Amino acid sequence: MEEKLISHQNMISLVSDLIKANHLVIGQDDKSIGWKRIADAAEIKINHSGIPSNVSYKEFVFAKTEPIFYYKNKKDDFDLVEPNLEERKIVFLGSKPCDARSIEIMSKVFNWDYKDKFFNQRAENSIIFGVACNYQDEFCFCTSVGLTPTTENGSDIFLVPLAENNYAFRIVTDKGKDFIKPYEKYLSDGNSNLSTEALSKIKHPEKRFESEKVRKWITGNFEHKLFDKVGETCLGCGQCAFVCPVCHCFDIVDEECNYSCGRRMKNWDACQFGLFTLHGSGHNPRDNQGKRYRQRIAHKFKYYTDKFDEILCTGCGRCSRGCPVGIDIAAVASEINFVANQV
Ligand code: SF4
Ligand code: SF4
Repeated sequence: MEEKLISHQNMISLVSDLIKANHLVIGQDDKSIGWKRIADAAEIKINHSGIPSNVSYKEFVFAKTEPIFYYKNKKDDFDLVEPNLEERKIVFLGSKPCDARSIEIMSKVFNWDYKDKFFNQRAENSIIFGVACNYQDEFCFCTSVGLTPTTENGSDIFLVPLAENNYAFRIVTDKGKDFIKPYEKYLSDGNSNLSTEALSKIKHPEKRFESEKVRKWITGNFEHKLFDKVGETCLGCGQCAFVCPVCHCFDIVDEECNYSCGRRMKNWDACQFGLFTLHGSGHNPRDNQGKRYRQRIAHKFKYYTDKFDEILCTGCGRCSRGCPVGIDIAAVASEINFVANQV
């Protein structure tokens, strides 16, 4: 890891050059609602001490909706047309550690039995400028899922805010090193003592539960009434999945135009929707909200961990902050941890 220094003014110049080089620079919007393409470098906002945006940036690697292919019927045949894939580099600027890990975590499922070229190409083109996070509220729980506000893992470049509008500029990966080479004029020599001191002052959220205990408890308590209790409140709105940096379920739908042509679309979906598991026969194996919520918890803390050795949650707290009925995923996991400790 190499450490440099960059001023905020030079960061603006760097971003300006990235935009001119036709890279897609994605930054947080002014109101912390979501992420957007930065058209003017003067607009950049590196949110190290504010609330995480309501919505993560996953839509830039895993699109909300996109065509997989187009088709055109001919008399005895048909033509398939592949959509063009985005070729440009995608620079995520100011990603808190709970977002920076998201692409690596999702890569496991998108390269499991089938390699998703849409996700993979964008992931490969992504450069993540992470930033140490100096924010926490009652919904943050990164330390319960193996991260901290200062985790560099997941970032290619890691920024540490210093005095006088400067940032320590830590080059974490070879990908980051290669990417930044043409722009080294904006960097000066760093002082790791300063950044280490700044990082040591960042408060970490208290650990709220042991994820391994949650994983083991789910294995033997599939029918536990705790899930029914949460299900009585859950509206099945799917907000929690859509804002999540690592939820990745999608549906595939064919859209026709007058029987002669059409397109096959891939659209975000969510396990909290009743239709998600509804069979063509009318049978629904998850026929109530308790079972659907159990799926959400089990997928995040058991199935994904069993299969990929990753927790499908970065502790960002978005799903809980935004839940219209106040369901807090960390509180549910903490309750499971408490119940597990009683046996
Ligand atoms: S946001 Fe809340 S109410 Fe909506 S599906 Fe998720 S847990 Fe249920
Ligand atoms: S499950 Fe909730 S807390 Fe965990 S990563 Fe997704 S949105 Fe964040």
